[in-house]
Amino acid sequence: MSYTKLSDWSKCTKCGDCLVKCPVMQMERQEAVAEITALLEIGYSERIFNECTFCFNCNKYCPENLRPHELILEKFMDARKKKGKISAVIPYLFNGMQTSMWKDIYAMLSKNEQSILKKWSEIPSPSKEILWVGCIGRMSCFDIENSTILQELPKFGPPDLCCGELAYRLGSWKAYTDTVKKTLRAFEKLEIERMVCYCGSCYNYLSNILKNVYGKKLPFKLISLYEWLNEKRESGKITLKKPLNLKTTLHESCYVSELGNEFAQDLRTVYKSAGVDIVELSHHGDCNLSCGAVSVLRTLNLPKSLFKEQSKKYKEVKKTGIRHMAVNCPGCFITLSFTNRFAGIKLHYMPDELLEAYGDKITKPLSKRIPLFMLAFMKHPTFPFKHVDAEISIR
Ligand code: SF4
Ligand code: SF4
Repeated sequence: MSYTKLSDWSKCTKCGDCLVKCPVMQMERQEAVAEITALLEIGYSERIFNECTFCFNCNKYCPENLRPHELILEKFMDARKKKGKISAVIPYLFNGMQTSMWKDIYAMLSKNEQSILKKWSEIPSPSKEILWVGCIGRMSCFDIENSTILQELPKFGPPDLCCGELAYRLGSWKAYTDTVKKTLRAFEKLEIERMVCYCGSCYNYLSNILKNVYGKKLPFKLISLYEWLNEKRESGKITLKKPLNLKTTLHESCYVSELGNEFAQDLRTVYKSAGVDIVELSHHGDCNLSCGAVSVLRTLNLPKSLFKEQSKKYKEVKKTGIRHMAVNCPGCFITLSFTNRFAGIKLHYMPDELLEAYGDKITKPLSKRIPLFMLAFMKHPTFPFKHVDAEISIR
């Protein structure tokens, strides 16, 4: 099984809409038709492989409801594997691998934080709803555990379980399915009606990709942290304590196009409620420009590939006359944190800011945890990373 075997590609009319509307390549119709045909027939397209940022948007443009993003990803990875060119950094980023960045990061957390993660590994007692905390959220375990806003939610997030996002986005269907199978086995033991996802990526992978690509269903409902906060706010259970008084642009993660308008609106509604004036970028929603994180698939030169994509985003931010950019996705926030200072743009991490605005004390903001990633990278035996054999699976 693979990403593309789950779609009926005989339905592709080779209309080229996916590449004509692509906000990165914006191909002419004739070229788009030729490139999608080449991808389907010979599995190769020079331009797509050099420029695609793997952002998901084209899935929304396909009139046949196919998933061209996954087609491109799979063909790209097949071509890299044939050349034996997969960076060792790729499998290191997946949770659940024998050598994993996440294991190394969690091992660097304080004793107190590690005991919180141990507690979050236990199946919580039966409860109406729980908070699921994924890989990056666990780095904020101290503030989440001690949050007054999230107090009523039992927390669950064993360090080796994951929604599978990184494995999926970075082109390893096998590692994705291995991860998800393991996570689903644990989820089967939960006696809950609703799971609140701290991270938007987990929400996308567990509510959308799991069902619409992998074809698996969860026995409970899912809700994003943002929708949950809006519910609490509207019912008067939480009230604004420290307005953010901020005018900012908003960077949306690639998964916003997958989740659609409801999620995008929830983000804006809750952020505006905290005293934020949002100025929209010209690319947003289903024509959003990526933070560049997945473009690292194309090269071992991380700074070069990141800055190439991110400079387009920073240019758009500057066009608004505002030097602030709010980010809800932890992956985007971390990726952008390596370059934002060079562009003179201040980043705002929405989960931390929202919890603070509604009364929590954030002692370990994600912005202060970035060095843990650098330290983890430096621990990798092949740092500064070589190419490795391409077969990747979770042990
Ligand atoms: S994944 Fe994004 S960049 Fe790649 S073709 Fe689709 S819309 Fe364009
Ligand atoms: S994947 Fe969809 S949008 Fe792209 S060429 Fe095929 S039918 Fe058209």
